Amino acid sequence: MRIGHGFDSHEFTFGVPLKIGGIEISSERGLAGHSDGDVLLHALTDALLGAVAAGDIGGFFPPSDPKWKGADSALFVREAVQQVRRAGYAVANVDCTLVLQAPKIVPHAASIRARIAELLGIDVSCVSVKAKTPEGLNLPNTAAAHVVLLVTAHHAEGELAMKAAEAMPQSVVDAEVEQVLEKSGPELRKRRAQPRKKS
Ligand code: MG
Repeated sequence: MRIGHGFDSHEFTFGVPLKIGGIEISSERGLAGHSDGDVLLHALTDALLGAVAAGDIGGFFPPSDPKWKGADSALFVREAVQQVRRAGYAVANVDCTLVLQAPKIVPHAASIRARIAELLGIDVSCVSVKAKTPEGLNLPNTAAAHVVLLVTAHHAEGELAMKAAEAMPQSVVDAEVEQVLEKSGPELRKRRAQPRKKS
């Protein structure tokens, strides 16, 4: 099991749509950024990459590269999920905290949770989205996002070993048991031959 943490912040600006957590929210201001400015999906991408020590969002999607201009940030999350899978891990749960003055996130939280669950391929009950206003921080023009998540190992090797054992013919298993009995002497063989007591 490993933990990942991501943080991001963007400045509000007029004339662009507001996207948070993969959802477009009706607002007179959006978030400035080279991509679609989705502060929450950027923090999520960094949390995923951080969990498997695979670098950060800027390393995979440099803001200097014009191909990411206006890009849907869901692309970044999908790539980060691939990195997690390649490292042998799967996302267990994710907890997100947004910090912004407006708009209110509560009416959109269910949609954001559903979209993040879809992008991560996990149940919506494993995705938490909370929001706070930046009391005392004097950040009326900023949206910030914090994301923490857990990833757990796939156990792919264990599954393969189990399948190989299941595919093994009984005669091979019996021969292996016989070999062990040969080495262990007559006592163990005698015990194996006795009928088991019913409990
Ligand atoms: Mg960002």
